[in-house]
Amino acid sequence: MSVSICYIGLGSNLGNPITYLNNAVEALQAHPQISALTVSRFYNSKPQGSQNQPDYLNAVVQCETALEAHDLLDVLQNIENNNHRERTGEHWGARTLDLDLLLYGNIIIESATLSVPHPWMCKRSFVLYPLRELSPHLVLPDGRTLEQCIANLSTDDLELMR
Ligand code: ADP
Ligand code: MG
Repeated sequence: MSVSICYIGLGSNLGNPITYLNNAVEALQAHPQISALTVSRFYNSKPQGSQNQPDYLNAVVQCETALEAHDLLDVLQNIENNNHRERTGEHWGARTLDLDLLLYGNIIIESATLSVPHPWMCKRSFVLYPLRELSPHLVLPDGRTLEQCIANLSTDDLELMR
């Protein structure tokens, strides 16, 4: 069975975000088909979409898995649900825990429920800066380097966790 290196974006801005991010890391670590976890530092970021919500805490996890991508998405959504995630339907609304599949090996996926690479990842400093800690020389499936993506991204809305 082939194993893929994956990157998962973690976000929280309700309740106790440090606890929710740690819960997510522990749940991923505990999963029998997920291994070799490494975790970036935690960052505070300003919300996307509605500004009428608390700041976010973000991090990125690298891991290895033999799970198929949609099965990995199911695992991520189960972890969200176990952490008081309520699905309001509002895009970019406040949430206890958001787990986004950023990259799944070097492949591109466009299905009804899953887009990989995550469509907005290259516009988000709170994704690319923690990602760079884990994989500074990363190349995206379309051939762009992480360095190229990060070059014209402002860090005004991002800081290391206070
Ligand atoms: P967002 O994170 O964009 O605010 P949600 O977390 O509520 O939104 O996710 C909405 C839907 O996005 C999920 O039900 C999932 O099917 C879909 N989705 C598509 N691509 C991805 C991805 N790469 N990672 C996570 N969810 C994804
Ligand atoms: Mg999400």
